[in-house]
Amino acid sequence: EPKLSGDFATLMGWADEVRRLKVRANAETPLDADTARKFGAEGIGLCRTEHMFFDADRIGSVRQMIMSETEGGRRAALEKLLPFQRSDFVELFRIMAGLPVTIRLLDPPLHEFLPHKDEELAEVAESLGADLATMKRRAADLSEANPMLGHRGCRLGVTFPEIYEMQARAIFEAALEIAEETGKPVVPEIMIPLVGMKKELEITRAQVDKVAKEVFEAKGKSVEYLVGTMIELPRAALTADRIAESADFFSFGTNDLTQTTFGLSRDDAGKFLPYYVEKDILPKDPFVSLDVEGVGALVEIAAEKGRKTKDKLKLGICGEHGGDPASIQFCETAGLDYVSCSPYRVPVARLAAAQAALSGGSDRTA
Ligand code: PEP
Ligand code: MG
Repeated sequence: EPKLSGDFATLMGWADEVRRLKVRANAETPLDADTARKFGAEGIGLCRTEHMFFDADRIGSVRQMIMSETEGGRRAALEKLLPFQRSDFVELFRIMAGLPVTIRLLDPPLHEFLPHKDEELAEVAESLGADLATMKRRAADLSEANPMLGHRGCRLGVTFPEIYEMQARAIFEAALEIAEETGKPVVPEIMIPLVGMKKELEITRAQVDKVAKEVFEAKGKSVEYLVGTMIELPRAALTADRIAESADFFSFGTNDLTQTTFGLSRDDAGKFLPYYVEKDILPKDPFVSLDVEGVGALVEIAAEKGRKTKDKLKLGICGEHGGDPASIQFCETAGLDYVSCSPYRVPVARLAAAQAALSGGSDRTA
């Protein structure tokens, strides 16, 4: 088992003795997962599955899936992606060896998957037996003025249920395989992105449950699993008591929550934010250090409402803020159970979590 060594390991050991917050990592590749464990991550808090679909041998099937105008066409493409996804999750579960792994179902800005170049369009046209003009029209139909506020996250899973069904199948088959291989339980945590309405979670959760039943019946064995949601839209935070009725856990996606609370694109923030910080209109870049006053208030509302519905509701954070010491201080105060950050920030997060615990989680502006 990989471990940090020497004085650094000793220091980390002291931090671990006092901290209350668990520290997980955001990881989707075996290398990330290995690194995360080496730095002491206690699980994966966010596996962004869309990152798994850009490999040269997969992107063609992904485009085929998105561009198909029929469910049959989408299913044919997903059939090709299933073995890739299954082996992705087998590797992650194997590396994480029984630690919790939160897998987020597909959440791409759709435009990242659409074919743009003529050769890409021609390739999809051939795989779908369609002509180039039809493909161009389809790509134009699917393209959006504001992809980050568009057909992404669970909206994709709601409108194309077969996508989340494929992913759920891959997760359950992989979990069964590793549970058998190791003789230890594997409890996947399946996370639904960009939920704004309880119905969205109900619908996608039902898809996951249906697939679980099918896989467990076919294999004659089962695993336990959790289904939870990201809280990354103000509407989700404000209706968290209702959403919690269908959720086993919440994970705060503070990148999107910051974007949607400020109404400020996370991709263009650099254009004028530095000026705002310089002029003290904002104390810090809210995409780096949690905006306690606004975004933090929504986190607190959601935590309180969620736990009013389920008092043991597991709460985490997986936005960039999960690796920022001042934000971790806030997470301690807000009563979260864990933070999840990039693998390389895990040691910093362990120290920050210890410091937050020692200061009683009271220093709201640290
Ligand atoms: C988030 O929005 O904070 C999040 C973790 O998801 P992503 O960055 O992938 O949108
Ligand atoms: Mg997000």
